[in-house]
Amino acid sequence: MKCPVFKQCGGCSYQHNDYPAYLDKQQNKLHDLLSSFAQVRPILAMKDPFYYRNKVQAVVSVTPKGQVITGNYKEQSHKVVSVDHCLIEDKTAQAIIHSVRQLIPSFKWTVYNEDAQRGLIRHILVRTGYKTGEVLLVIVVADKMVPGKANFVKAIRKKHPEIVGVVFNLNERKTSMVLGPKDISFSGKNHLYDELLEKKYRLSAGSFYQVNPVQTEVLYRTAIDLAQLKPSDVVIDAYSGIGTIALSLADNVKQVYAVESNREAVRDAIFNAKLNNVTNVQFFHGDATEWIHHLPIKEKDIDCLIVDPPRAGCEEAFLKTVETIKPQRMIYVSCNPETLKRDLEILSKTFHVEAIQPVDMFPWTEHVETVVLMSREVIY
Ligand code: SAH
Repeated sequence: MKCPVFKQCGGCSYQHNDYPAYLDKQQNKLHDLLSSFAQVRPILAMKDPFYYRNKVQAVVSVTPKGQVITGNYKEQSHKVVSVDHCLIEDKTAQAIIHSVRQLIPSFKWTVYNEDAQRGLIRHILVRTGYKTGEVLLVIVVADKMVPGKANFVKAIRKKHPEIVGVVFNLNERKTSMVLGPKDISFSGKNHLYDELLEKKYRLSAGSFYQVNPVQTEVLYRTAIDLAQLKPSDVVIDAYSGIGTIALSLADNVKQVYAVESNREAVRDAIFNAKLNNVTNVQFFHGDATEWIHHLPIKEKDIDCLIVDPPRAGCEEAFLKTVETIKPQRMIYVSCNPETLKRDLEILSKTFHVEAIQPVDMFPWTEHVETVVLMSREVIY
């Protein structure tokens, strides 16, 4: 794999390898970390491991000669590396970012300077629907006054008719977070649709959505298969995002209870249940640790607990409560093997670790996804 800015960018740590060698590295890393719990199954590779990222965010910057550039922050710094062609980002998203970059000078928009905290345009964020082809464009600005917004929208939609909405998001703070807390306005829609495992999803600019739509189906199918669900099962989906795991398995079980802390994502999840005519999933807005401590159902009725926490893993208090409620089976979907290992040290006191299945969700990067099946009684 050949990327001209591989060294400066730092996004893909393993680009100097070929794909099988890259997969071996991930496999060995997981073996070292997790094999004391159970054998680590061979990682599920991606057929075509390029241009997969459906969420592409570019920092906008300007060279000393005044040329507008877009790209990524150099690893561990705030220096911007200009990226013209990225091998893991969706191609349409990249083309739209190029077009926005070209339009910036013609609208006389200034580029935000982080040190001086002056200027207008900070980031361009593009989300693409892999199955629907819909695109949502978000322009992150540092000031409410954006001259020529309507004409900009007209120009960019003319060039890229797949854009279903343009959102102007305000981020006035000195922060490395891309999105600010408020949108100033939007034109068209402020969300897009995509499909996973035959279900349709609405997602907003700020909601979490897995970044590799092809491997997400592999991941969810793996989790559902490992869970060995029955039509009489009651399932909990903790850290449920816009409801994708809960809704993907709803047809296989009696009832699902899901909890998520991001209000916008919960709103999307409730909408998505209706959109897919799913009536046996109930979504709760709240902190998973608190929610599980005050369960809305009888503990003994839970057949399967699914967790899919952020990189930090589960809080210890959450795991302590899980120990006391002891669901029959537990599925842990993890995007960080280090915190997974830490959490398995606790969980393996109560559960048998039955299967560890890695999925290559982020080819060429250092990140890797793992699904773990645990049960109270030995299954295999
Ligand atoms: N299962 C979903 C989302 C996984 S990402 C999917 O596959 O798309 C992790 C999610 O956990 C995010 O949506 C994040 O908002 C949510 N989250 C983070 N901390 C949380 C907490 N303490 N309680 C509940 N949800 C939390």
